[in-house]
Amino acid sequence: MKLSDSITRLPKVGPVYLKRLEKLGIIKIGELLTHPPHRFMDFRKIAKIKHARVGETVTVLGKLNFIKNQYSKTGRVMQLGEIEDDSGKMKILWFNQPFLVMTLKRGLTMCFSGNVEFFGRDKALITPEYEIGDSFIHTGRLVPVYPETYGVSSKWIRSKIAFALKVGKPEIEDHIPPTDLSKYDLVGFKDAIYALHYPKDDEEFQKAKRRLAFNEFLTLTLQSIFRKDLWKKNKALYKIKLRNKEIKNFKNNLPFVLTTSQELNIDEILSDLGKDTPMNRLLEGDVGSGKTVVAATAIFAAFLDGYQSVIMAPTQILASQHFQTLNKLFEKYKIRVKLITSNEKKGDIGKADVYVGTHALIHRVIDSERIAVIIIDEQHRFGVEQRSHLVKKSGKGNRVPHVLTMTATPIPRTIALTTYGDLDLSILKEMPHGRLPVTTWIVPAKKRLHAYDWIKKQIDADHIQVFFICPLIEESEYETMKSVKAAMSQYADIKKVFKGYKVDILHGKLKSEEKDLAINGFKRGKTDILVSTPVVEVGIDVPNATIMVVETAERFGLAQLHQLRGRVGRGTKKSYCLLMPSSGERFVSKRLEAMRTHHSGFELAEIDLSIRGPGQIFGTAQHGFFELKNASWSDTELIKLTRDYAEHVIDNKPRYKDLLNSIVGEGVGLN
Ligand code: ADP
Ligand code: MG
Repeated sequence: MKLSDSITRLPKVGPVYLKRLEKLGIIKIGELLTHPPHRFMDFRKIAKIKHARVGETVTVLGKLNFIKNQYSKTGRVMQLGEIEDDSGKMKILWFNQPFLVMTLKRGLTMCFSGNVEFFGRDKALITPEYEIGDSFIHTGRLVPVYPETYGVSSKWIRSKIAFALKVGKPEIEDHIPPTDLSKYDLVGFKDAIYALHYPKDDEEFQKAKRRLAFNEFLTLTLQSIFRKDLWKKNKALYKIKLRNKEIKNFKNNLPFVLTTSQELNIDEILSDLGKDTPMNRLLEGDVGSGKTVVAATAIFAAFLDGYQSVIMAPTQILASQHFQTLNKLFEKYKIRVKLITSNEKKGDIGKADVYVGTHALIHRVIDSERIAVIIIDEQHRFGVEQRSHLVKKSGKGNRVPHVLTMTATPIPRTIALTTYGDLDLSILKEMPHGRLPVTTWIVPAKKRLHAYDWIKKQIDADHIQVFFICPLIEESEYETMKSVKAAMSQYADIKKVFKGYKVDILHGKLKSEEKDLAINGFKRGKTDILVSTPVVEVGIDVPNATIMVVETAERFGLAQLHQLRGRVGRGTKKSYCLLMPSSGERFVSKRLEAMRTHHSGFELAEIDLSIRGPGQIFGTAQHGFFELKNASWSDTELIKLTRDYAEHVIDNKPRYKDLLNSIVGEGVGLN
């Protein structure tokens, strides 16, 4: 068995399990074997029945004398059995698991692990873990408990891992030489994999995790160094001559004064545009920090020198918003901005200087154009392939356009260096002047009506507008229908409550013209309240909207809540965010409390790290973003160590040929 083999090599793992396991990110044997337990049950103490004491957690090995269903006075069904070893007998007891009577036969030799308690006057193991025989997979040791998913229990995972390790005997090659292992105080790869699932104590487990974490960081780091190397082999498709006077004029004529950060970032970007090596830059700035105008300046510079640009947005809604924003910013110049919609066939699309569209549509324009700059907005919503596809397609061989990717995901610098080490980084550190923090309230069910009245008063007094976000329901085709339904009923309710106000609805199943109508109506102030599924999450900019209401707020992740709240507080008016937990929710979650007390995306990202734990980066759950399994983004020390090692590896490529091949693929070589 190889680590690269499919998990379908394991007995009784077919398409159904494959699908379930995919949810846990497990497709290959290697991924199963590095899937870390999140805790252990300590069943290490093995005892003779006679010596097992009440209050202890023990494992006993014995013969099953009987097992039967028994009904309690209250009608509960329990499974009562008796086990015996050469020292004595004891009872075992489960509740509501009648199938046990079918699967466990008297006379079987079995192991049981659990707490010894009194059952009447007898000693008994209550709801013990059990297994037939004495292979000590589910009993008799530190028994791992894994993150589970629907239809995949910890016990199931345990037995598959046991099979893979004991029967499959996988070839586990360590590409890190022993001298390096001792230098970095790392255990061997094979030992780490066994100890992850069969540790003798916590220390051994932690060492295993550390080694596997090292592998994860090393993979990320080397891959990004490799991408950087590859990128450097490209030539800029078009070098842009900067017309500084006109650019300065453009900036001076904006309806606002640029922030210092915006100025700095614009300078960095413009200087990239004139270079031989194409720009490959990540512009990171919190929600509402003003990334669009930075991108617009790059587009403007390209236009002045006679070139086209392209903006790729994750949704049609955002694409049309960019279209409008750019039209406004470029009003005084003869810049033709073109929005690609699904109505236009390839070939019908007229000439323009800037094309805006979603990934699905943007390809229709780029074949024959002189595209000097590509802007990718909300980069975390796109896969790596979508991005590189667009870049390749708009380039000519190794001559590619300048690429600016933008994200509101507040990735701390250490993390950015590891995952996006190939990209140059520009950060918008401050918000535009005059922004007030959005006051955030957690509104319990009993204050809901009160809140509605308050909202009415705000609309009456100041003609402000309100976003009303519907309950979050998980995504899937079926769930989309459900969430549309939820949105419709919410819409009906809100219309009743807000009689006399103009209420509109926005959800994913509307046709794109209907969506535009809803958004534009809201933007022009024709609608007071826009009821919406969480689709407004990214990017929408309506400065007069100053109240954001989020239903079932406890179901949203911090990143999503932060994005939603970022929809308000974009003008100079005081804004509010009302988080409304489901009526059954009695506890205010840490997340909602964090929203109330914190406003910066970076701080919320840190909190998210500490609440949710280690693997995921704030707001990047979707779209195949590399998820850490054993490593933690808060482990800055190991991140640094790995970067050291990665550099050492790169400096000594021949010696690390196998390691490099295993990470960046055979034959790429890293010259
Ligand atoms: P994001 O970074 O979230 O994409 P946008 O580019 O949509 O943010 O900008 C948010 C809002 O802030 C827009 O209405 C934009 O016109 C405005 N804005 C951008 N820069 C400034 C600035 N320097 N001063 C005032 N308002 C600004
Ligand atoms: Mg934006």
